[in-house]
Amino acid sequence: MQIVHTKAEVRAAVAAARARGARIALVPTMGYLHEGHLSLVRRAREQAGWVGVSLFVNPLQFGPGEDLERYPRDLARDAELAAGAGADLLFAPGAAEMYPDGAPRVAVVPEQGAEALCGRARPGHFRGVLTVVAKLFGIFSPDVAVFGQKDFQQAALIGRMVRGLDLPVALDVAPTVREPDGLAMSSRNRYLTPEQRVQARALSQALARGRALFAAGETDAEAVRSAVRTRLAEAGVEVEYVELVDAATLEPLRRLVPGAVCAVAARVGTTRLIDNTVFPAGEGALPL
Ligand code: AMP
Repeated sequence: MQIVHTKAEVRAAVAAARARGARIALVPTMGYLHEGHLSLVRRAREQAGWVGVSLFVNPLQFGPGEDLERYPRDLARDAELAAGAGADLLFAPGAAEMYPDGAPRVAVVPEQGAEALCGRARPGHFRGVLTVVAKLFGIFSPDVAVFGQKDFQQAALIGRMVRGLDLPVALDVAPTVREPDGLAMSSRNRYLTPEQRVQARALSQALARGRALFAAGETDAEAVRSAVRTRLAEAGVEVEYVELVDAATLEPLRRLVPGAVCAVAARVGTTRLIDNTVFPAGEGALPL
């Protein structure tokens, strides 16, 4: 596996792979890789002859007071893991390589869907995400890009960007990989103390309670929302939101139908965690 830091090196590697007829896949990440990221790389590997992984802690998607500076970083470890999962290239640019002018002079701004859910507490976050993903699409020109359901709103907005800007890339969304006790894997889980790690189980447990209610015939969104909130509150985690939304429009639902998404964000100590589930199965079937 090649490790490169410049756009020019990525373009040369992609051109060489294309010249031998390979389909190009991209897996964008912020690094500190875990099994969730690696499942995306393996999934990309199944669909393409050449797989690039990007590793960039994108300053543009972090707000003031968020964890940009302390976000975990370990390039040597990430390189070993990415190579083991079948990546051909790891692109780890510095901020100046991605944003040579400092703040970008052009950005991709979602017109709708970015104020809901995570956007409420993180204004500008999805502008940062879409801008960097659009740039990565420009740098890699991938045939397919793989994202995780864990960041459901992000995947949905990237889907909108690709359709809205007619970008020639297929999107693939992979199921959330979880710890044995249900906690969705996240690079931020390492911030948790052992006690908080136990508390953090409440997110997936609360979502499971919501799914169970739906399976038992409950279709009133408010009833499910309040049960999910109660479970989170019982565990002593600070709820940021519990929302039941249409997977395609991200609009809140009053009546639940199959394919509805229950999304949560909560703080465990100072660590902000997110998770979601699709009714009824939990994973999959996101209409991107
Ligand atoms: P991040 O490094 O957190 O920006 O995530 C990079 C990609 O990995 C995104 O598409 C995420 O949705 C995906 N991802 C993160 N955690 C998981 C997980 N537990 N399971 C599956 N995909 C994940």
